[in-house]
Amino acid sequence: MIQHQSYDYVFLGAGCASLSIVVRILKNSQFDGKKILLIDKAPKVQNDRTWCYWEKENGFFDDIVYKRWDTISFYSEEYSSDMTIAPYQYKMIRGIDFYDHCFRIIAQYPNVELAYGNIDTFSRKGRQLSISLDGGNYVLDAGEVFNSVVQPDKDSTKSIELLQHFKGWVVETAKDFFNPAIATMMDFRVHQKEGTTFSYVLPFDARTALVEYTLFTKQLLPQQQYDEELKNYISKHLEIENFIVREAEFGVIPMSSRRFKYEENGIYHIGTAGGQTKASSGYTFQFIQKHSQQVVDYLGAGRQLSRIGATPKRFRFYDNVLLYILYYNKLPGDRIFTRLFKRNKPQQVLRFLDNETSLADELKIIATLPTMPFLSAAMRQL
Ligand SMILES: Cc1cc2nc3c(=O)[nH]c(=O)nc-3n(C[C@H](O)[C@H](O)[C@H](O)COP(=O)(O)OP(=O)(O)OC[C@H]3O[C@@H](n4cnc5c(N)ncnc54)[C@H](O)[C@@H]3O)c2cc1C
Repeated sequence: MIQHQSYDYVFLGAGCASLSIVVRILKNSQFDGKKILLIDKAPKVQNDRTWCYWEKENGFFDDIVYKRWDTISFYSEEYSSDMTIAPYQYKMIRGIDFYDHCFRIIAQYPNVELAYGNIDTFSRKGRQLSISLDGGNYVLDAGEVFNSVVQPDKDSTKSIELLQHFKGWVVETAKDFFNPAIATMMDFRVHQKEGTTFSYVLPFDARTALVEYTLFTKQLLPQQQYDEELKNYISKHLEIENFIVREAEFGVIPMSSRRFKYEENGIYHIGTAGGQTKASSGYTFQFIQKHSQQVVDYLGAGRQLSRIGATPKRFRFYDNVLLYILYYNKLPGDRIFTRLFKRNKPQQVLRFLDNETSLADELKIIATLPTMPFLSAAMRQL
């Protein structure tokens, strides 16, 4: 299955993080002719996820942005608002467009090899990479090795683990119902019986939108319950009774206080496996993009990848404080996000969620949140 014995770069897993690095490498003539191996369990033929993120300028994948919005809305029982977010835009990329785009580029380069199979184990000693793939053992000579297959937590007792899980439907209506100019980022008007729960709505046009039902809780729901909640939300809050479900997606993202290792025995963990999923929000796409650019810049400059800085400690601290509060139900998530959006400019909230604020900004934001639960959770984390 694996054709050659020696590669400059090997990627275990060929999803968002690996493809984001590989395409950047291929577009940079500095890396011409470098031998690359990408391994995944199966070819990407399905629209298995939809990425939303915000950005000020045109990003690396701007050509495949399916829809973008200048205004986002927030709803809760206490506060609702439409917010213009300039200079940011809220952007959406469909998984299948991303995969097609990346593999179309990859197909133009004979120096990139694709191999499919289940990666059971892998380890590295010097340049020697050992992989067990579908039960077969391979020993390769590898320059750099990147892994995006999430590894089990060796010390899970120490970390707080929540799941962000969601089901989404692309719904189509016979009449105009949606305002395509506004994306609903969070709508907390749904019941909070299971824990922090919200819906979001991404309208593509007046008659089509992706509607998602999302929870930050310890356990998944039975599949049928997501469907019922979606139906309720669409009927009660969007006031739509007749619609067709064009597509469905279901996802689970770990929200964990676990300290993901970036480098382990000469292998670089990337994407969710490398801790690029923000523990308190599940947003990952932009963190992957920023990190991928850094990786390629470092490789190009001949700098050691281990020198790429980790997420600043204080942001991990904020994430863990929020996780602790949600995990132990110290404060309902809808109240926290309501305060965040009600008392801060949306651009400031987005910058904060991007880990791009200054300490002074963060102190101002923290001051808008309920003091006591955050203080006691912070003391616990310290
Ligand atoms: C449905 C869904 C929606 C999401 N929406 C957003 C969003 O709107 N915004 C945002 O910022 N983030 C979002 N995320 C989170 C995050 O951006 C994605 O999970 C992203 O794909 C993570 O990239 P990755 O490369 O780490 O993992 P993946 O893209 O999942 O890539 C990992 C690859 O490894 C392969 N693999 C796994 N195990 C094995 C194995 N044993 N052997 C071989 N191959 C293996 C998989 O097939 C996969 O291709 C979403 C996640 C999901 C699941």
